[in-house]
This record gives sequence, C-alpha cells and structure tokens, in this order.
Amino acid sequence: MSRLDSFIRRACAQRDCLDLAARLVSNLPGPVLELGLGNGRTYDHLRERLPGREIYVFERRVAAHPDCVPDFPHLFLGDIRDTLPGVAARLGEGAAIAHADLGSGNPAADAALAEFVDAALPPLMKARGLIVSDQKLAPAGCEPIPLPAGIEPGRYYIFRVR
Ligand code: SAM
Repeated sequence: MSRLDSFIRRACAQRDCLDLAARLVSNLPGPVLELGLGNGRTYDHLRERLPGREIYVFERRVAAHPDCVPDFPHLFLGDIRDTLPGVAARLGEGAAIAHADLGSGNPAADAALAEFVDAALPPLMKARGLIVSDQKLAPAGCEPIPLPAGIEPGRYYIFRVR
C-alpha cells in the first residue's frame, strides 16, 4: 500500500471513529478531552460534531491552524504527564469522550506515553464514556468496542468505560 493510501485510510478511520463516538454519546452529557492538538484537524471535527460541548485540549506546543486553536481556558499547554493529572477539578464532571492522538512514530516513546494514558485517563471519564485512540491502549476499567465497518483492526481504537 502506498504511503498516500495508508494516510487516507488512517484519516478515514480517525474520522469514522470520532463520528461513531459522537453519535454514541448523544445522550451522555459531559466535556470532551482532546489529547494532541497537532494541526487542529480532529479538534475542529469534534467541535463541529459536538456543538455546545466543552472541549479541553492538551498539547505540548501549539502549531495548529490559527482557526483551530482553543481559547485560553480550554487549552492545557505542556506535557500531558504534567497537565492531565490535575485537571479533574477544572472539568467539573467526567468526560464523555477523550480522543488521544499522540502518536510520534517512535514506538518506544509511544508505548511509554500509552502506559501513562492507560492510568491517567480513566479517572477523568464518566461511566459509559468513550476513549478513542490512535495508539493501542489498555485503559483501566474499560473495554474495547467494535470499530465502524470497514476499519481494519489495529488502525484505530475505541474503549468504553464500564
Ligand atoms: N489530532 C491532531 C490533528 O488532527 O491535527 C494531530 C495530533 S499529532 C499526531 C500529535 C500531537 O501530540 C503533536 O502535536 C504533539 O506535540 C502532541 N504530543 C505528543 N506527545 C505529547 C505529550 N507528552 N504532551 C503533550 N502533547 C503531546
């Protein structure tokens, strides 16, 4: 498969998983956590699909399209290992969706960060909330749910908090 095809498949998987998650939480109130702003594409998609939801974004350094930079109260700047643990009080309630898109292409660094996310994210979530991830995770107290049709296993991941 060409790198272009692979990129397109990943982007489609990402969009379809976020769309499924947005549909599944239509009756589950709560904020959204976006881990990894990057260019701001998925942040923009989430705010379009989930109008009215508070979306809190975690990013080491902002390099997004100017239209896709959250306002100051919704942006946690710094390494998520520093910013995520203290955020529960700011949220007020558990998150309905967390999207972790933190992949760097360095397998060792990604695995180490995934281990942190596995422990840090579930306590911030609401029961029945969804964790959508580009990396394979094993979040405590969560179970994987089936991916949208047509997405190869291992391309993207969705977990539901029990
Ligand atoms: N979702 C984004 C989009 O649609 O444009 C792409 C995200 S990009 C693949 C990954 C982002 O995660 C990068 O911007 C990187 O700076 C951020 N990131 C990676 N590790 C991080 C960490 N430990 N703390 C904070 N941000 C991190």
